[in-house]
Amino acid sequence: MIHMRDVSKIYENGAVALDHVNVDIEAGDFVFIVGASGAGKSTFIKMLFREELPTSGSLFVNGRDVVHMKRSEVPYLRRGLGVIFQDYRLLPDKTVFENVAFAMQVIEAPRRLMQRNVNAVLDVVGLRDKFRCFPSQLSGGEQQRVAIARAIVNDPAIVIADEPTGNLDPETSWDIMDIFNRINLAGTTIVMATHDKTIVDTMQRRVIAIEDGHIVRDEAKGGYGYEA
Ligand code: ADP
Ligand code: ADP
Repeated sequence: MIHMRDVSKIYENGAVALDHVNVDIEAGDFVFIVGASGAGKSTFIKMLFREELPTSGSLFVNGRDVVHMKRSEVPYLRRGLGVIFQDYRLLPDKTVFENVAFAMQVIEAPRRLMQRNVNAVLDVVGLRDKFRCFPSQLSGGEQQRVAIARAIVNDPAIVIADEPTGNLDPETSWDIMDIFNRINLAGTTIVMATHDKTIVDTMQRRVIAIEDGHIVRDEAKGGYGYEA
């Protein structure tokens, strides 16, 4: 599903964010990316949806050659991915329903399918009764659930999340992790960068630890491995 070979990323200012990284993530995996601030986690995540390109090496995501694809192919890459950020990134002047439906409008889905799938994913995240609300009327946890609904509405093969619980209290964070668990059980691959030691230690999923742009640990059922 994700194959990185000898991937390095050096930013224009000379910062080496990733240094000869090799990773294989298979369909159905649930992977935590951990490491100190500045280790390279966000760079790793951003390359998966081609927000950043590797400086060298090869990267295949969902069968697509990320390094050599034409810019016109990038939307097709991103269609197969659901991306979730720490700060939710909802459209403030659209309702919950419209925020989620927007992801389907972009791919020109038929109206009836849109209605059905938006309602279905709002059920998955437990927000069907809030479909008329605007983001400002929701708690942080609810906003993140809308972001998850938007990320999964087009049935992506991979959900990519960068610190999705970073702004949430522990209880709300577990609500979010329950949803990720259910999405993963339904077959979706999940790649999640996080600083949340309790979540990583409790979930006992695959853990990839990055330090100074190097993968220093890759365990099938790992712990966080750092002090909180
Ligand atoms: P993390 O997500 O683990 O905090 P990042 O991937 O954001 O790590 O950063 C890895 C390294 O790359 C850091 O040294 C950071 O300063 C640098 N870096 C990240 N983004 C940029 C950028 N756009 N331009 C220059 N340097 C960057
Ligand atoms: P065209 O539309 O003219 O075919 P592309 O945008 O597809 O041009 O890019 C041509 C080449 O440049 C491809 O090999 C592509 O991978 C590479 N490329 C595209 N976007 C970027 C980018 N943001 N940074 C570096 N290389 C890029």
